[in-house]
Amino acid sequence: MNESTSHPLKLFNSLTRQQEVFTPVHEGEARVYTCGPTVYNYPHIGNMRAYVFADLLGRTLSWKGFKLTHVINITDVGHLTDDADDGEDKLEKAAAERAQSIWDIAKHYTEAYWDDIKALNIRQPAHWSIATDYVPQMIDYAKGIAEQHCYELDGGLYFDVSTIADYGSLARAATEDGEGRIDVVEGKRNAADFAIWRKTPEGETRQMEWDSPWGKGAPGWHLECSVMSEALLGLPFDIHTGGIDHREIHHPNEIAQNQAHSGCDHSGAHFWMHNNFLIDRAGKMSKSTGEFLRLQLLIDKGIHPLAYRLMCLQAHYRSELEFSWGNLVAALTRLKRIVMGIERLQERLASSQIAASQSEKSLHPKITEIRDQMDAAMSDDLNSCPVVPLLEHLLSLKKVDAAQRMDLLREMDLILGLDLETLTRVDLRLHPKAVSITQAEIEDKLDLRQQAKADKDFAAADAIRDELTAEGVELMDGDPLRWEWSISI
Ligand code: AMP
Ligand code: ZN
Repeated sequence: MNESTSHPLKLFNSLTRQQEVFTPVHEGEARVYTCGPTVYNYPHIGNMRAYVFADLLGRTLSWKGFKLTHVINITDVGHLTDDADDGEDKLEKAAAERAQSIWDIAKHYTEAYWDDIKALNIRQPAHWSIATDYVPQMIDYAKGIAEQHCYELDGGLYFDVSTIADYGSLARAATEDGEGRIDVVEGKRNAADFAIWRKTPEGETRQMEWDSPWGKGAPGWHLECSVMSEALLGLPFDIHTGGIDHREIHHPNEIAQNQAHSGCDHSGAHFWMHNNFLIDRAGKMSKSTGEFLRLQLLIDKGIHPLAYRLMCLQAHYRSELEFSWGNLVAALTRLKRIVMGIERLQERLASSQIAASQSEKSLHPKITEIRDQMDAAMSDDLNSCPVVPLLEHLLSLKKVDAAQRMDLLREMDLILGLDLETLTRVDLRLHPKAVSITQAEIEDKLDLRQQAKADKDFAAADAIRDELTAEGVELMDGDPLRWEWSISI
């Protein structure tokens, strides 16, 4: 444990729908499994909110002194177009539509996802578990539960949810105001039964298929996460995360398998945590609705990806977050101000010639207070919202020793992950793809305009302003952020 954090970490557990104090399964450790992307398409920024949340959780656990083992999986097989066990495999469908190899599709979108992970400063987990690497273990696992918990249909091996006493309790599906949504599909004993092995139909060949006791086929999506989490973290482990949609079908099904395989009532993880959605005016952002926002689109428009990370951190992970370009630009401006504040702090530190670690003075009470407030907020179910204003407050405390401020700022950034020590104002100015005028040309025109103003040739100065406006460049005279210009989005 980090001796100097005094608030016990409380996390909202979807199993009990309340906050509980985090007590690790293994002394001093935290083992976390995060449901990863299905790599049939690019992730949208809503998907990436799920990983910013998991990263915030991991960073907080590390800061609190727990030795973190984090696993994120990559689903490259088995996820159907409908979570409730209906439809086609998303990757098979994408491969058929684009006449491409499924393996190429998986590789391409896994790499694209990893690029986004990097751009958002999300820490690398201990393991990226790739579903297709675990198929033999999945077959063994299914063999282990088949007799007591499964039955065979033409379509494959199905899990009988009535063999699990409290099936669906995570989704509260059985309660009057049940939040679960379970479609009725013909041929099953119970509507909620799901395939753990899907047979390749007679006369067909799938690009991805393996031999099994139930015929050639592929594993079900729910099976993958149970197998990989148990293989890499052991049961029970500490925390399982995912988006709120997983609380309804995917995670109840994982829990059922975990209980069947372990023979215990325990759900497999002590905590099940879910981030809420990023929404836009039309509702939940999703890939199936055609147009969707990718991180690359933000970058192409000149918005630094860490502005999106900041936008996520400004909201609590369990609240819906509404996306708008206005909110995003406001987050970028806020990040610029913070970065400018840090640059000033660094200058001050350099001029005072004291290395942070050599500062011998006892901690200023303000430093202790802000650190404690941050600890209290993060310990209150990862409430990152007040931490950004606390950081801004810290930057504004001009009378407090610069070295002590810098030390605390570094610590705050261990949690926020905004790369604050190295990020510069120049890094934050991305050039939009669609804008043809170059940065150097803009600067040249600005110099000419300054000269024209100095010569009191206001007509020439205005003409330059108009030329820049025509190029999509907006001038901001007297901008307190010293950005002088921006490109209209
Ligand atoms: P998928 O690649 O569809 O399996 O989704 C990856 C992760 O993103 C899952 O944890 C989903 O629950 C989560 N997710 C999907 N849509 C959104 C959204 N609009 N906002 C936040 N998380 C989402
Ligand atoms: Zn999963």
